[in-house]
Amino acid sequence: MSDPKRSGSDSVVRFVWQVLDEGYRWSRDDWQLCLASADTPSAIRNAPQGPWLVDPLVEGSAPGRRTQPLRQRHDLHVEFARLPIGDDDESLAAMAAFASRHGLLGHQVKSVRLVNLEISDRAVHKAEHLWTWKSAIRLIGGLLKLIEAYKRSDTDLLRKHVRWHGGGLGVRLDYTWPGDIRESQLWIARDPPVASEGELDKLAEWRRSTSDRARYLEPIQYYLYRRANELLREHVAPRLFLDGSIALVPDSLMGAMVVMLAEQLSGVWQMKLCPACGKIFVPRSRRDQKTCSTACRKRLSREGGTS
Ligand SMILES: [Zn+2]
Repeated sequence: MSDPKRSGSDSVVRFVWQVLDEGYRWSRDDWQLCLASADTPSAIRNAPQGPWLVDPLVEGSAPGRRTQPLRQRHDLHVEFARLPIGDDDESLAAMAAFASRHGLLGHQVKSVRLVNLEISDRAVHKAEHLWTWKSAIRLIGGLLKLIEAYKRSDTDLLRKHVRWHGGGLGVRLDYTWPGDIRESQLWIARDPPVASEGELDKLAEWRRSTSDRARYLEPIQYYLYRRANELLREHVAPRLFLDGSIALVPDSLMGAMVVMLAEQLSGVWQMKLCPACGKIFVPRSRRDQKTCSTACRKRLSREGGTS
């Protein structure tokens, strides 16, 4: 669905993605990495056999379609975050179905070739490792939940994750990311060492305050904005086009989802919690839309709620 407000912001972020009609499949065949560059994560180098989500296209072109996810919808990252994080067939099928609808993630594409030379297919394929998908869902899904708690000003929930240490000398995020078994501990701000003077001032300000807003909401806001900016720096860059225009261009579908996360954080789009099914959704048509779907709206009105 095209959104008038989104179309109006086209001059800021421009993104077109290619999706092959044939779709994408996971392969558990024996693959080898053609070139392991320095920036190839060790998790991928240590498991070159995959599974890989293989792009069927070898050379030339194949029937496909061009999509503009930032124009057509702005909750693709929410759909992505709901994907299961696992190695089982069901999880792999859900990820492949997402890829067949929206394309490869594109930020960590590798060249692979089948090991078994008996097989006639000696071609080099573009492919994405399962680790790439799992870590992307973990990141987007984890940030999405934190943004949602921050947006709801849910200090009860944030108190569980935002921890003060050393009598107020540091504040930390203790958080179990989606798919993880153990909690990760990340410093939001710490003295010493501190990253900047501004950070030190913030820390002092939060520490002095007795309000939940300053002690829990503001540190999480600070963390989320910093993380969003890191990801934007990594995935989005300005580009000059031949028609003379300049736009911000995400490097991949992953980059486009980072833009969606940043917009959600900034409040350009409001996330809501569906009262019928409990899922997080972004209103697609009307900003006052209360449920995630027509089915949920009907269910709610049948059950006597308001829609
Ligand atoms: Zn619903």
